[in-house]
Amino acid sequence: MSSAESSSGACWFCGRGEGREHSVALPFWSNVSDDVQVLVLPRCDRCHAFHDRQKYPSGLIVVAFAAVPMLLLAPWPIPESLRGVLMVVAMASGFVGGIVFTANREARQAHAHGTRPLPDYVQHPPYLALAADTRTWRQTRTPGIGDGSGSRRETVADYRRYFTGIANDPVALAALERGCIAAGVSFDRQ
Ligand SMILES: [Zn+2]
Repeated sequence: MSSAESSSGACWFCGRGEGREHSVALPFWSNVSDDVQVLVLPRCDRCHAFHDRQKYPSGLIVVAFAAVPMLLLAPWPIPESLRGVLMVVAMASGFVGGIVFTANREARQAHAHGTRPLPDYVQHPPYLALAADTRTWRQTRTPGIGDGSGSRRETVADYRRYFTGIANDPVALAALERGCIAAGVSFDRQ
């Protein structure tokens, strides 16, 4: 521990609440050994609820941004051979625009609420260090993309369920528990 702050359990996003089971869990699997480590970013229940509320409108906005350029293109007499490509370009640029727009919107709203948006976790220095070291660490349990279970996991509670359930991975569970202790977040094994 480099500072008392990192083990206080205080919410990393707002700095006020207490990090609990909705704290953000960021697991890393070693490429060179059986090691697992889980960074835990303390998050209070209020910030968790706030982040959850932001997700739904953000998803809608991104879809709308992707759809609008296509709708604008639709009535024009574009040769069939070109239309497909143009549609894809229009959708992709709308999609990127939507992502940028929602990121700014989320950051503004979070700031107004005295907290930070969820994607800010990538600015957490220990996360940056591990994520940059791709030779040693990967962020998926099995090498490659995902493990086919299809659900997005984000919180300590999500990963506890996953490691005790379908993954049946006591090594990762122990790493999660260590991560919680290091972050000052209480961990309930149940
Ligand atoms: Zn908070």
